[in-house]
Amino acid sequence: MIVILFGAPGSGKGTQAERVAATTGTPHVSTGAILRAEVARGSALGREAQPIMESGALVPDDLMVRIIESRLAEPDATGGVILDGFPRTVPQAEALDLMLGRNGREVGLVLSLEVDPDLIRERILRRAAIDGRSDDNPEALAARMRVYQRDTEPVVDHYVRAGTRIERIDGSPPIDLVTAEILKVLGAPTAPPAAASTIAGAETAS
Ligand code: ADP
Repeated sequence: MIVILFGAPGSGKGTQAERVAATTGTPHVSTGAILRAEVARGSALGREAQPIMESGALVPDDLMVRIIESRLAEPDATGGVILDGFPRTVPQAEALDLMLGRNGREVGLVLSLEVDPDLIRERILRRAAIDGRSDDNPEALAARMRVYQRDTEPVVDHYVRAGTRIERIDGSPPIDLVTAEILKVLGAPTAPPAAASTIAGAETAS
């Protein structure tokens, strides 16, 4: 299933997407992580994206759509993915729907992580002190929040209109509780697959 994990910057969607991916074995596709890797490699794409990201603005839709199209064409994505950071605008959502539709696929679920803006500010400024991500400064954060409200929030309405299943999840509790809530909504077993195979392995050995 194609799952969109949706939420404001600092809502914890990256952290949750990673945990849910590890537990369910579904690939985690983070456009922010893809872009940061390109910046680190110093590729043409990375050089184009870096100043945009640092200002808190959005990388152009056509570029993002091409990145996602090639990622979703990779063999590990055929069984579904968890999308984190995409689609971030209504045109991106429309392009995603079209590219999935060409292969008889569709977005199966939108998970919206909801967190109070004051808590978000606090989390991001704390993360800035720990990770030193270059877009986690107060100015870029303010820009990202504005862009989120203006360009990204309407994406949820797009999926409401499309009749897609949407689940809203409170992202303010501790990380583990939010993960458990998401896994419940996904109907996923909460034990990681690695633990399950260890047990199966032990049974075979005995
Ligand atoms: P956060 O959700 O904390 O803002 P991300 O890691 O998702 O962080 O994204 C970091 C930056 O990468 C964004 O502020 C934006 O500049 C760029 N970016 C990521 N995904 C997209 C996208 N789908 N469209 C345009 N820009 C994007």
